[in-house]
Amino acid sequence: MSDVLARLRALQEGDLPTHGGSTLAYVYDSGLAEADEIGRQALALYGATNGLDPTVFPSLRTLENDLVGWAARLLQGGPDAVGTVTSGGTESILLAVQTARDAARNGRCTPSSDTGSPSMVLPATAHAAFFKAAHYFGVRPVVVEVDPVTFKARPEAIAAACDDSTVLVVTSAPSYAHGVVDPVPEIAALAAERGIRCHVDACIGGWVLPYLRADGIQVPEFDFAVPGVTSISVDLHKYAYTPKGASILLHRSAELRRAQFFAHADWPGYTMLNSTTQSTKSGAPLAAAWAVVQHIGDAGYQRLARTAYDGAVRLAELAGEVDGVTVLARPATTLVALRSDERADVFTIADEMAALGWFVQPQLSFRDQPPSLHLSVSAATADRVDELVAALHTAVQKAQEAGPVQVAPELAAAAGGLDPATLDDAAFDGLLALAGLGDTGALPDRMAPVNALLNVAPPRLREALLIAFLDRLMRPT
Ligand SMILES: *Cc1c(COP(=O)(O)O)cnc(C)c1O
Repeated sequence: MSDVLARLRALQEGDLPTHGGSTLAYVYDSGLAEADEIGRQALALYGATNGLDPTVFPSLRTLENDLVGWAARLLQGGPDAVGTVTSGGTESILLAVQTARDAARNGRCTPSSDTGSPSMVLPATAHAAFFKAAHYFGVRPVVVEVDPVTFKARPEAIAAACDDSTVLVVTSAPSYAHGVVDPVPEIAALAAERGIRCHVDACIGGWVLPYLRADGIQVPEFDFAVPGVTSISVDLHKYAYTPKGASILLHRSAELRRAQFFAHADWPGYTMLNSTTQSTKSGAPLAAAWAVVQHIGDAGYQRLARTAYDGAVRLAELAGEVDGVTVLARPATTLVALRSDERADVFTIADEMAALGWFVQPQLSFRDQPPSLHLSVSAATADRVDELVAALHTAVQKAQEAGPVQVAPELAAAAGGLDPATLDDAAFDGLLALAGLGDTGALPDRMAPVNALLNVAPPRLREALLIAFLDRLMRPT
């Protein structure tokens, strides 16, 4: 047995560190060893339970209602608010979109909707999960430009994009890519006026903003205190620092939630009754989330939110002083986005940061915006900000010495003109090899050449290349 676990540990050596504050995306570290230990023990206690049926493991119902109650209080849900614990932000968002679509179809929310071809209005900064929901549920995404300076959604543009087919309007608190909070009150009001649901994607900010407010920081209005907000997603596995696999979707009322649920009693097996997309589901992430939230508590989260926020603000200030780096927006919460000038590309900076032990996340160019770097600051990163900025200095200098990765102009031109629909497997093999992704057995040490090439490709081609890459990566051994 110990041999098998030793093999797991050995395999993990190739992974990003989950603790220590040096990984600025994917993982969130409270720095509280005891909270982590409690989460691990709760996972072990509940690993074999099944959330398929709320009557057979009644403890799971207790845990879920406790957590939803906590989130509803935090996000000013009022006595009618309800919610569901899901497996993650994406599932919360999928369910919000599916619920809005089906409620409109049933005539519950927007009776005038053209429910034959439902649509939702998304600021261009909305999370990719909404596009996944659009794809899964046949809801047409209507994408609206955001303010080019503040990166916030523009209420007038959203109003202009709403029509009889709109079943949902989306806002972010904050947006993942830029870390800014949309003007939720204006947008929720215009949605309510039209009888359209308004979802606030607070996946990454929903467990931070209320605690910052409690700590005396002025934060934008974004939760159920805002009239017209009908649902909110908030991830536990981000800034509630719980083990992965836990998020909450809240609705303002049970009426607004009804279309989320699914039952099927017309087959020979058990009556299926589901609140989420999963049916059989482990109770472990729920129990772990409950345990960590109980352990850290309001006072603990207020401290953690303040620590991470102060770290992000300080990081933004100091990073802005690094020659060749600009900060896209003053952090509204704990997220920082950086750009570089023409002397260096952000992809090389990310590689140099990785060489120095820091993981920062590249974000490709989007419309007329150049590529950038994303940094999610955890509480555990906060007291290492000076060290992080020193690494950034070095990384930028090295990237400037190397100069931006050059993509051959003929290659860039070819990428611009390729229609992914016309490419066959052999063509993808060739393109992946060109991009440095031909040998999936050994991923390249430096990702900058790969990112630079993806960066000059149009989004549809990027997507096709990435899917072809994933297809080759995921083969049985
Ligand atoms: C992380 C995130 C999501 C998606 O959540 P997952 O847990 O990765 O599925 C959606 N929206 C925002 C703003 C996020 O930060």
